[in-house]
Amino acid sequence: MPRQKQQTVQCQCCRQEKRLSDVLPAEAVRESIMELIKHQCPDWSAGSFICLADLNRFRNQYVEQEVKAEKGELSILEVEVGQSIKEQELLFRDID
Ligand SMILES: [Zn+2]
Repeated sequence: MPRQKQQTVQCQCCRQEKRLSDVLPAEAVRESIMELIKHQCPDWSAGSFICLADLNRFRNQYVEQEVKAEKGELSILEVEVGQSIKEQELLFRDID
């Protein structure tokens, strides 16, 4: 049988080997979440990968932080949903 080399990369956050389909490159991570990751994983930098499990964890932490910080105001999720609806409206208008 041919040796199958499965392509893996190391998640610089949890240090586990992950398949390429299970990680995201740092440049695909939103800047605000990147700050949170760097804070907790000092070795993680712009050229690193982060696995989706870690990314989800940080994303949840980020949303929690934002909700706490903006008590009584729109949560970040609501803001994002509002923005993407506006973007869709614009797209549809362009097609028309
Ligand atoms: Zn990881």
